[in-house]
Amino acid sequence: MKLRLEVVWESEGEEQRRNVMAIERSQLAMETLGLNLGESKTLLDGVQDIVVAQQVAENLEQRRRCSHCGERYGSKGGGTKEVKTLFGRVKVANPRWNRCRCQPSGAKTFRPTLSWLQGQTSPELLYLETKWASLIPFGKVADLLREVLPLDDGTNHETIRRHLHETAERMEKELGAERQLRLFEEEVAQQEDPAPPDGPITVGIDGGYVRAAHKEGFFEVIAGRSVVAFRREAKDEVPEAKCFGYVQTYDEKPRRRLWELMKSQGLQDHQQVVFMSDGGEDVRRVQEYMQPGSEHWIDWFHITMRVTVLQQQTKSLMAEAGRADTGAAIAKRIDSVKHLIWHGNVAEALDRLHDLLDDLDLIRAHSAAAEKLACGMTEFEIYIRNNRQFIPNFGERYRQGETITTAFVESTINQVVSRRFVKKQQMTWTLRGAHLLLQTRTKVLNNELENVFRSWYPQFRPSAKAA
Ligand SMILES: [Zn+2]
Repeated sequence: MKLRLEVVWESEGEEQRRNVMAIERSQLAMETLGLNLGESKTLLDGVQDIVVAQQVAENLEQRRRCSHCGERYGSKGGGTKEVKTLFGRVKVANPRWNRCRCQPSGAKTFRPTLSWLQGQTSPELLYLETKWASLIPFGKVADLLREVLPLDDGTNHETIRRHLHETAERMEKELGAERQLRLFEEEVAQQEDPAPPDGPITVGIDGGYVRAAHKEGFFEVIAGRSVVAFRREAKDEVPEAKCFGYVQTYDEKPRRRLWELMKSQGLQDHQQVVFMSDGGEDVRRVQEYMQPGSEHWIDWFHITMRVTVLQQQTKSLMAEAGRADTGAAIAKRIDSVKHLIWHGNVAEALDRLHDLLDDLDLIRAHSAAAEKLACGMTEFEIYIRNNRQFIPNFGERYRQGETITTAFVESTINQVVSRRFVKKQQMTWTLRGAHLLLQTRTKVLNNELENVFRSWYPQFRPSAKAA
């Protein structure tokens, strides 16, 4: 069998055709059935060249005459510009024409493609590169795209990283300036008689660590999730959750970032915003002045996690010879501390922790487990003491049906940070690189990247818009 594929089009009322490729088959087998991958690449590449050439030729023809007098522009020179598309590199005719004689002023020559020809990469390719690089490593994205599409060595982990950074930088530029406390007060003062807002927005924030490039050690990235409890208009609607992330020591506008995210979830003035975190200083800083009347609480989840660690250390103490009773008694007392914190009785909880530490002091010199437990308990005491103003009466909140924990935050850190940033020990990051990747990654996870591209390129993926 011999098959010839050609493209047929109409130009000035005449049918034009050009050969794209030939397919030859002798023996039918599963592996020869239909097009193979190599043929599909040749086909796409060939068709793309013809489509682009026709589009550009037609557009140039439409622009060929002066809009004032109808005279044809004189040619000052030819030229082409190379553009990388999803289906291979294409050469775009990019001539230079003379200014029309009827126009007395302006540049002597101009390029008619100037109105549409921007950049060297088609948005479709840029989008796919950015989307996949937000999910899997840069090199893997290059391998994958080159395997299935007619792309050459110009698609590699360096170009993909650069394209993702360019996309993220453009998003960052459009974010606007950091928000100040003063702004909130002015805006609230302007509001009169606001409608009752939707249910509270709960924002869970946590930190994770990634390995730093060019030096030893790690740096912290912040990730979190914002959830609207309910909509006043549609109470049955499933609450909407969106995640966010940034590098604390790099980001210059974390408040604006979070505010825009909550705005996209319909944040209204006077809407209650509840922040839950593990109370770290840098995490708390962002939440200040976010919204008048916003609350910040320690997430119950983080307290139980710490208590669980203490209880495990108590088990080691019980396992030591002759300390089973002492260990069991301490375990019970730790439980009562947890109980007091649950009811927001922090002062009493701290007193009991001090008693426990006094008792552990008596035996820690002779017991490795007691020494370890005492260290853990000292840390826990500092944690509770530093965060006492952020520890609510969890029991009361729980009975009122209010949020006491964002247990999802642990999985958010995993989803936003770990899965992409710390897969392999040797993966290292610059502050900027990590921050920019977090921006595109959260857009992808929130299903928003396509909308971002559509706001830049209105005709991008029109079918998805209609759906
Ligand atoms: Zn003219």
